[in-house]
Amino acid sequence: MVLDLFKLDGKVAIVTGANTGLGQKMCVALAEAGAYVCGVARRSCDETKSLIEDGKFFEIIADLSIMSNAKIIVDKVMEKYKRVDILVNNAGMIIREDAINYKEDDFENLYKVNEKMPFLLSQEVANVFMKQGGGKIINIASMLSFQGGVRVIGYTASKHAILGITKALANEWAKYNINVNAIAPGYMATNNTSNLRSDEQRSNEILNRIPAGRWGTNDDMMGAVLYLASDASNYVHGTVLCVDGGWMAR
Ligand code: NAD
Repeated sequence: MVLDLFKLDGKVAIVTGANTGLGQKMCVALAEAGAYVCGVARRSCDETKSLIEDGKFFEIIADLSIMSNAKIIVDKVMEKYKRVDILVNNAGMIIREDAINYKEDDFENLYKVNEKMPFLLSQEVANVFMKQGGGKIINIASMLSFQGGVRVIGYTASKHAILGITKALANEWAKYNINVNAIAPGYMATNNTSNLRSDEQRSNEILNRIPAGRWGTNDDMMGAVLYLASDASNYVHGTVLCVDGGWMAR
């Protein structure tokens, strides 16, 4: 049955940024499809845990701006479950400032959290995937993986980079049955966009450009992440799936 391709029974997934927003709902989607989910976050994931069946959610508290945490996180997952099948590099930060005033430290932090840590975590899980015979890596990109944006130079640079990383890793690792792909969310109603949404003029400009006529929601990510995490996408490598209400088609 084709629906069996989407089942994740017995699989183990790592999702970063699991306490809020898109990450929280992607944890729920993967768990509802059968996976054990290891949610990584700086703060407690109690709310996420409450949305998931007992015993299927494991919390790992870690600051993803500290690069040594990549190995620590994957070691903890291996210690608990003895395997890992799926990595969703979702955690990300955004800093809004005119390019002329953008601080070097802010640019550096965006590089670390949005770009370097996803690569290091990918490297750690790929070592396990190669022994296990395959696995899935899903990077969370952005419309600013394609466009310049305004007042978000550090974010745009990191989100362009994550697409490059997705393609480069797909080229090297497809032969090991490792699928590396990305999801590019459009404008979604989360903490990440709260400043934008509270600026009435910018909010209206954005809404008027979205063919679907609404901001995206956390729920809109569920089908996309399940597809890329499951056997349904076994021959899909190095691609980016836009979940954007048609923004990129405009
Ligand atoms: P969010 O702010 O609710 O979630 C971001 C998550 O990343 C949080 O869980 C946060 O704790 C975590 N995080 C950030 N820095 C961290 C660090 N140093 N250590 C550990 N965790 C850290 O926003 P969101 O919209 O759910 O963002 C999720 C992803 O989606 C991000 O990569 C973001 O860039 C991307 N995205 C969001 C939108 C949107 O419109 N909301 C659009 C495109 C891409």
